[in-house]
Amino acid sequence: MVVRGAKIRRLSKSELERYSRQIALSEIGYEGQLKIRNASVCIVGLGGLGSPVTLQLAAMGVGHMRLVDQDVVEPSNLHRQLLYGVKYIGYPKVEVAARRVRELNPNVEVEPLPISINAENAEDIVSGMDVIIDGLDRMMPRYAINRACQKIGVPYIFAAAIMTFGNVTTIIPGKTPCLECFQGNLKDEMLPTCADVGVHTSLLSVIAGIETSEAIRIILGKEPCLANKLLHFDISDLTFEEIDILKVESCPVCGSNPRGTPMPLPRKLISETTGRCGRRVFRIVPRENLNLEMDKLFSIVEALGLKVRVKSNLGITFENEFGGSTSVLKSGIMIVEGAGGEEEAYKEFSRLIIDGLGIPRSRIEI
Ligand SMILES: [Zn+2]
Repeated sequence: MVVRGAKIRRLSKSELERYSRQIALSEIGYEGQLKIRNASVCIVGLGGLGSPVTLQLAAMGVGHMRLVDQDVVEPSNLHRQLLYGVKYIGYPKVEVAARRVRELNPNVEVEPLPISINAENAEDIVSGMDVIIDGLDRMMPRYAINRACQKIGVPYIFAAAIMTFGNVTTIIPGKTPCLECFQGNLKDEMLPTCADVGVHTSLLSVIAGIETSEAIRIILGKEPCLANKLLHFDISDLTFEEIDILKVESCPVCGSNPRGTPMPLPRKLISETTGRCGRRVFRIVPRENLNLEMDKLFSIVEALGLKVRVKSNLGITFENEFGGSTSVLKSGIMIVEGAGGEEEAYKEFSRLIIDGLGIPRSRIEI
């Protein structure tokens, strides 16, 4: 993880011009812009919510952005995930997002992490950050982030959006309820997904805009508007509703007798989802970040006679022998489309990563 150097004490002439329309806001001003320039923000999940938040905060001039995501760009992302274009299908999302941020604002130091969030790495992900912004679509990584934020004392803006409605709240450790006070014990298998029930693109910009606004309030040292309140918004009738939420005395994370944080969370080496045209998609997430040598992996894939579609710094996508595509991220995460079952998918992983690159099983298996 990148550790930032000395704080910047003055804005340059070009920064003054670039940010003139927000420095003019009494809420921000020169001192506020300096705070934004010196802030470190982490966006976890670069999908429908993470995309607009990333663009907004980069444009506003946040100095350091840590971007975390475990996926590659797919055609079904493009209707709502505004960071990506057709030519980036098959690229790691974090890599495209980092490129887009640098194009938009070269003043931003951007740190792309193509990793999967879990209880073991969540503290590293949140440490050194002024605020964490939720762009995730599953509860398990959210719980890991919530617990790490509570332990280290980092504000966490929780948000979720599906179909035409979404929720947002700002969690300040020690002051507000944590995620498990009001949404504990939810199992991902029980929750609907965007793939099943859909999501309205315009909803995402509204929810993301609220997350950005709350993050900027925290950076400026102002009280967040959504502390102790869960905002519910529905784009189908344009209703905003605020629900008071309370700290729960028996909360396993922030209650008076916490059962230790972070608690081990259930995690599997291989998980399955349904992809394009109903194809089975297997995701293999090694127990640690393997930091693969991508050039070496590229040579191995080519030597096997597999057609490479994407070769980039943080990932590779090639046509596999199951009639689909396989993507491998630098962290070692492999996404295999079209395999017949877990065993077949793991065989693919094994021949490339374990036999091909010589990575020991002990670094992979959970
Ligand atoms: Zn709690």
